[in-house]
Amino acid sequence: MRPLRRKRQYEVTQDPVSGQERVLESNDEDHLLGDEGSVDSLSKHNRYPSDCGCFKPVGGRCVQCGQLSCVDCFGHCNSCGKPLCLECSISIDLPNKQRIRLCERCYSKSKRRERLAKATRFLLSAFFEVEGAHDGTK
Ligand SMILES: [Zn+2]
Ligand SMILES: [Zn+2]
Ligand SMILES: [Zn+2]
Repeated sequence: MRPLRRKRQYEVTQDPVSGQERVLESNDEDHLLGDEGSVDSLSKHNRYPSDCGCFKPVGGRCVQCGQLSCVDCFGHCNSCGKPLCLECSISIDLPNKQRIRLCERCYSKSKRRERLAKATRFLLSAFFEVEGAHDGTK
């Protein structure tokens, strides 16, 4: 049966990086002539997930892998502010129950800083022990 009228509606978003349109949702509507002379409408609603697999509104594009993720999965590095998807960010739970995100670079940088701080503390404690020993012999 040939439809009398076909309507197709898209909801798109403009990609800020490539400038291309990306379909978020589409609506298909067919108007058919029924057997008894009635005009029947048939509509279909399609939703397309973000690259993260969620059906939530798009949050942004990750600069590391270029994937589009939803508002829940999308975030920024807490240190350099780089936009990241969930897969490219390393979440760290802070002692105050806050969860922050870091990009790989800032994460390894903070790890280095941590190691450095530990090494400094170790050197300092060794130094003070020596000082203490000297004091004892006086
Ligand atoms: Zn998501
Ligand atoms: Zn990514
Ligand atoms: Zn960063």
